[in-house]
Amino acid sequence: MFRDDDELSPTKKPKPVALAKPASGQCLCGKVRFEIDVPARWAWHDHTQASRRAHGAVYATYVGSWKKRFRITQGESELSRYEDPKSKTARSFCANCGTPICYERARSPHMVNIPRALFSGRTGRQPLYHIAIEELQEWAYTGEPLVPLKGYPGVVWQRSKKKKRSEREGMF
Ligand SMILES: [Zn+2]
Repeated sequence: MFRDDDELSPTKKPKPVALAKPASGQCLCGKVRFEIDVPARWAWHDHTQASRRAHGAVYATYVGSWKKRFRITQGESELSRYEDPKSKTARSFCANCGTPICYERARSPHMVNIPRALFSGRTGRQPLYHIAIEELQEWAYTGEPLVPLKGYPGVVWQRSKKKKRSEREGMF
């Protein structure tokens, strides 16, 4: 990347070393917006039943941030909070659209976990870690080869092995 001429101009004061811009995100309806300072602490995939249910998804991918580096920049009053006394966890979500916004655990009081999918850009951490991988669901997509579905543009599918066998059988 080339610098702007402005930056090289000797008549201008040199800029201080640019700090990375915060990573920002939002809920589905856009009423709640937030940001964290980057890089995030860490990122991981969470396969636990609690996170599956809270997200309505096969697993949840989180970015962990220190609470002091996390800011709700808009729509704080839209946040609803569900506290689960049994697991000592609290999950906040947008009361308008239901998007999960953050997840806190009593045992990590200084951290807040934010769904990776809500960020529009990079967070400085890749989700290289897995929690409860033994709970990975058999219906989770794990990168199997996909082929176009005839007659449904834009739809691809994982051709079932059974079908393949019957097709093979049909050839003879
Ligand atoms: Zn919302």
